[in-house]
Amino acid sequence: MAQNSIAIIGGGPAGLMAAEVLSAAGHAVTVYDQMPSVGRKFLLAGKSGLNITYAEDPETFATRFGAAAPRLKRALDGFPPDAVRAWAAALGTETFVGTSGRVFPTVMKASPLLRAWLRRLEAQGVRLRTRHRWLGFDPDGHRLRTPEGDILINPEATLLAMGGASWPKLGSDGAWTGMMAAEGIEVAPLRPANCGFDVDWSETFAERFAGHAVKSVAASSQAGRIQGEFVISVHGIEGSLVYAHSAALRDALELTGRAALILDLAPGRTAERLAADLARQDVKASFSTRLRKGAGLDGVKAALLREVQAQAQANRLPPAELAALIKALPVPLLRPRPIDEAISTAGGVAWDEVDGDFMLETHPGLFVAGEMIDWEAPTGGYLLTACMATGRAAGQGIDRWLSGR
Ligand SMILES: Cc1cc2nc3c(=O)[nH]c(=O)nc-3n(C[C@H](O)[C@H](O)[C@H](O)COP(=O)(O)OP(=O)(O)OC[C@H]3O[C@@H](n4cnc5c(N)ncnc54)[C@H](O)[C@@H]3O)c2cc1C
Repeated sequence: MAQNSIAIIGGGPAGLMAAEVLSAAGHAVTVYDQMPSVGRKFLLAGKSGLNITYAEDPETFATRFGAAAPRLKRALDGFPPDAVRAWAAALGTETFVGTSGRVFPTVMKASPLLRAWLRRLEAQGVRLRTRHRWLGFDPDGHRLRTPEGDILINPEATLLAMGGASWPKLGSDGAWTGMMAAEGIEVAPLRPANCGFDVDWSETFAERFAGHAVKSVAASSQAGRIQGEFVISVHGIEGSLVYAHSAALRDALELTGRAALILDLAPGRTAERLAADLARQDVKASFSTRLRKGAGLDGVKAALLREVQAQAQANRLPPAELAALIKALPVPLLRPRPIDEAISTAGGVAWDEVDGDFMLETHPGLFVAGEMIDWEAPTGGYLLTACMATGRAAGQGIDRWLSGR
């Protein structure tokens, strides 16, 4: 079979998965990446425990992608959580299901998996060209900046897999949005996803409690009620429980200019039980003592209550009202933290541009995959799974398109 030359721009999980599929099908694949090495965000994701997928049935799994779920379904069905685990195992990385359902490599980190993956790609003949930055479209192909100067490539098919715009120092800087827009390709604005938020903390609170974890709380927003923990930062709030609400809170801020995360600081007790416990406290005792003895709140939780509801006021509240406040403490948010700090990115190449094989309708032979398409998902392994699944589906799409020409 004659080898078709295929360029993949972006060596993250999406691009590498497409390279794997296409090289296995016998194509000549070159992966270009602007960084000195590929997979940097993948490696960072492994720093605090690589959450590679989520152990749930494919139907439930697919619902985590909001409005984009129907568009992603076929790709996700082609690479469901069990297949992700089998793929990692075949590369020597066994995985386990954590208590929450999140799936991690037994070694927790990403580096052994990435090393084995790159060895497989090399064996399959994939060429890696690092320090090659995609500069955009040219009537004769694509322009790339290399250490030796600018070059033009004109492959038979191209996959763009340049990621979102979070953590730009790892390579995904979102600069492609301008180049795509200049080419008339619709791109939904990139926005932070799985991000923290700014809160107007008092200086004293921020200084005293930045870095403190707020554990065993429940938080509510339009996203529903979720139990977990988060962290106070100098600027506001961050951490897994906040990320789980971040899409809903970001959208509310955009739409109405206002949003609050509603905290239940004592999820183990009903409001009635709390009110009764608070009512039993000595009225002459200090507010801190009443909170600690009556509601089990001290440290950062008690400070949060005082920070949000001025102590003098909270102190005067009758037990039932204080209990209600503890069960539904609104933390008003100012804005999401900048996209640079987010875990992932919402927005990207509009679905209307993309056909069922991830090819751009207006640009035959040009495909997209991974985080640069307009979808978002919570943390928990959904992001990596969808990036690899779309990379795989786009790779298969390229193979089909080339053989159908
Ligand atoms: C701190 C952190 C922790 C995370 N943890 C998890 C986790 O545990 N589980 C999970 O599912 N997800 C996690 N993620 C998200 C996950 O890493 C990303 O969703 C995923 O890496 C995106 O894959 P991608 O291939 O689409 O893009 P990327 O991994 O961003 O790769 C894109 C590549 O394109 C290259 N590129 C960009 N522009 C150009 C250009 N102009 N020219 C040439 N090359 C270019 C970049 O250098 C980069 O190598 C985490 C993210 C962060 C920041």
